[in-house]
Amino acid sequence: MKRSKIQGSVVSLVSAIEIVATCLIESASTLVFTGAGLSVESGVPAFRGSEGLWTRYGTPSPDSYRYFLEDPAMYWKNQIENVRTEGYMAELRKAIDLAVPNAGHDALATLERRGLIDAVITQNIDGLHHKAGSQKIVELHGSRYKVRCVECHLRIAREEFDITLIPPRCLSCNGLIKGDSVMFGEPVPRPWVQWCLEYVSKCECIVLVGTSGTVYPAASFPRMVQSNGGILVEINPQETEFSESCDIVIRGSATRVLPSIVNRFLELMI
Ligand SMILES: [Zn+2]
Repeated sequence: MKRSKIQGSVVSLVSAIEIVATCLIESASTLVFTGAGLSVESGVPAFRGSEGLWTRYGTPSPDSYRYFLEDPAMYWKNQIENVRTEGYMAELRKAIDLAVPNAGHDALATLERRGLIDAVITQNIDGLHHKAGSQKIVELHGSRYKVRCVECHLRIAREEFDITLIPPRCLSCNGLIKGDSVMFGEPVPRPWVQWCLEYVSKCECIVLVGTSGTVYPAASFPRMVQSNGGILVEINPQETEFSESCDIVIRGSATRVLPSIVNRFLELMI
């Protein structure tokens, strides 16, 4: 695949979809990198932007992980008693529990089944890629549906985790257990970053879907792909931090564009 073939192209939507479908077919290794914009169309509000949770509720404390470490028993007491019925986390939890995968999630699962995607790296905690049927997923910011040991990073389905002690401890290493979602001030678990780096090292094409490119280390992965000579594709209705350096940008919603890419791929395969 020649990167120069598409760089700087100004093309119609139909042509852009054709180019991306061809890229996916020709690329030996493709990643999809998703953010909140993808799940907005499933009813999960984004954090940023005019309707974003933090715009409406205010930006949360940057020290939430430190507070957890200082008093993990209080954190779990609040979790069990579900005391937070208001605020951005309460609204987010309710929205996630009601959400179902949209046509964009479904299209990505189809592309994986067809062998066109190596993995999805997502910043979303809503579990919608799993529900849509994607198999290879790195949940870089954790999952609402899991708990995790802060020491050995063991993850357990929240519904299967029995709390007999507060704060609960890991059965494997006795480390503290917390919700899997990565808190402010909490480092992304090293094994997850390592998985991403392994995928990124061989990636020839990365498709950015609904992500603003402002959160690190997540935002560094597309840059690494590009510096290794890979192609950057952006699918987003809005301009982002990535837009200027992308090889091809499709200004449209994921629920419309991703199924169109699947359809074009299927036509090309006939
Ligand atoms: Zn552990």
